[in-house]
Amino acid sequence: MRFDILTIFTGYFDVLGYSLLGKAIEDGKFDVKITDIREYSLDKHRKTDDAPYGGGAGMVMTPDPIVRAIEAVDPNHKARRIYLSPRGSTLNQCKVESLAKEDRILLLCGDYEGIDERVLELCIDEELSIGDYVLTGGELAALVVVNSVARYIDGVLGSSESTSQESFSEGLLEYPQYTRPEEYRGLRVPEVLINGNHKDIENWRQAKSIEITMRRRPDLMAKTDIGKFLPKKPKKRRK
Ligand code: SAM
Repeated sequence: MRFDILTIFTGYFDVLGYSLLGKAIEDGKFDVKITDIREYSLDKHRKTDDAPYGGGAGMVMTPDPIVRAIEAVDPNHKARRIYLSPRGSTLNQCKVESLAKEDRILLLCGDYEGIDERVLELCIDEELSIGDYVLTGGELAALVVVNSVARYIDGVLGSSESTSQESFSEGLLEYPQYTRPEEYRGLRVPEVLINGNHKDIENWRQAKSIEITMRRRPDLMAKTDIGKFLPKKPKKRRK
């Protein structure tokens, strides 16, 4: 999988060198290429923005440097081209999993008041938001997409980590987790996790997941097939 990120603030992406993702990139599990949109500006001062037609606050990113940058990094439109935008559909785990199946993803970061609408018409496949709030630029949103999608790429998570039992993986939030010591400031780890058998632990975790999801995110609960978590009735034996 390869990500192309187009931005005027390349320094934001230095954080990709850290943690599990930094190691995975170093090991060649996936690739991230950062492109500075300014490099594609024909203006002698490498200008990439101008005042909005019709007036209004702020500046708008001009189309030409962006379109030329996109055409340079993805000349044959092989990548899924995404513009990070508060107007886009909201990223969720289901979308993350589907993006992880792409071979190439191009992420276009807007800044200032956003980009000239014609870029979207000419070059972009979809707009994606990371939530109902406005950031100063698309860079943090692009990092969120890379981070969440990369976790689904083979070999990125170590064998001890997994995406299969996390929040959202079954439509529920995750159960509480504990580690040593058994007692901390008067709070004990639930007995079942210390002395329970495998089945009891699984049942406890499932019950906690359901309880937490019902309390915090009833909207998720409404979309989950709760039947799959209920104990199965023993099959009737044929006479
Ligand atoms: N004027 C735009 C509006 O009202 O929709 C907001 C522009 S915002 C200040 C600058 C850039 O940040 C946008 O072009 C977009 O790339 C990015 N951005 C802001 N909020 C975002 C969000 N929730 N999700 C994804 N990208 C976002």
